[in-house]
Amino acid sequence: MGDMMLIYDLTYEELVTFLLENNQKKFRAEQIWQWLYKQKVRSFQEMGNLPTDLINLLEDSFKIQALELVLKHESQDGTLKCLYSLHDGHLIEAVLIKQHYGNSICVTTQVGCNIGCSFCASGLLKKQRDLTSGEIIAQIIETERILQERISYIVVMGIGEPFDNYENLMRFLYTINHPKGLAIGARHITVSTSGIVPKIKEYAHMGLQVNLAISLHAPNNDIRTKLMKINQKYPVEDVIDAIKYYLKITNRRVTIEYILIDELNDTQEVALELVQVLRGLNVYVNLIPYNEVLEAPYKRSSLVAMEKFYDTLKKQNIQVTLRKEQGHDINAACGQLRSQHL
Ligand code: SAH
Ligand code: SF4
Repeated sequence: MGDMMLIYDLTYEELVTFLLENNQKKFRAEQIWQWLYKQKVRSFQEMGNLPTDLINLLEDSFKIQALELVLKHESQDGTLKCLYSLHDGHLIEAVLIKQHYGNSICVTTQVGCNIGCSFCASGLLKKQRDLTSGEIIAQIIETERILQERISYIVVMGIGEPFDNYENLMRFLYTINHPKGLAIGARHITVSTSGIVPKIKEYAHMGLQVNLAISLHAPNNDIRTKLMKINQKYPVEDVIDAIKYYLKITNRRVTIEYILIDELNDTQEVALELVQVLRGLNVYVNLIPYNEVLEAPYKRSSLVAMEKFYDTLKKQNIQVTLRKEQGHDINAACGQLRSQHL
């Protein structure tokens, strides 16, 4: 059972191929996806309009259950954290946030992360394995079941580096966007990366109007290498070049994520340096108060420093947002995950 493929791992075309190879009718693919992505059934037996031989074939060929809920935690502000176990016992989390514009979920792409940023709790846990596309999709479907509401915004900002699991990420994106799949608008989907330069360029050509967020966190290599050792491989100037390339190809505004850490990357000098680096680019900066984690030596910026940093960017005509309330922001909630459970 454990080694069988998850039905959610198949693209629509792959399901059609599977059906044809097994002497089934092509139109069954549409019915099966209807059950999986619209009705969200938990077993093949519930697929009432399928012939018994097809139900048996599906049962013999695929798993349908990817995740088991281990525990959930709901906060006052409408944040729902779900801890799930995978078939091999690994634990992952998905965080749902109720926003005024709709429900937003932050999904996990890997068990652990090999990028190893010094401020991030998931970076301390070596990557155990990549999630399959179906396991990423299942986080949305299971959480919708629990919530009993539709989720319409997806951020790929949970544990893991999505561009280090690129092929499964692409399958995931195409399936959730597919009109016969979850039919989530591409513009409602955001992928966040630590800055894997070749993948940013590849992503520019992926064909869907999906958003891109770059975890920059510093305008120069000195500070950025301290925070993110990946910066030795892909330094600031290469990341900025990749952003320029992406902007040229897609013409889509890029989000720059910038966590504010006390005395490290939150000074006026650094703010002005950031302005220089981003000048003229179609980007907007999302300033995120750092969530302190036990294992890391960093402290959150003071409110005064955060506001000054924000004002400096604003005055220099850089588009910028700063959310101070804890937990309300999906980024903040994702960041918090890391200090728990792991
Ligand atoms: N690996 C990808 C996506 C997952 S991390 C990336 O790094 O972009 C998602 C975001 O949460 C990143 O911007 C990351 O820098 C941020 N983050 C990680 N730990 C955090 C913490 N303790 N406090 C605030 N944000 C954090
Ligand atoms: Fe990995 Fe992102 Fe955490 Fe860095 S911030 S260790 S890339 S999950």
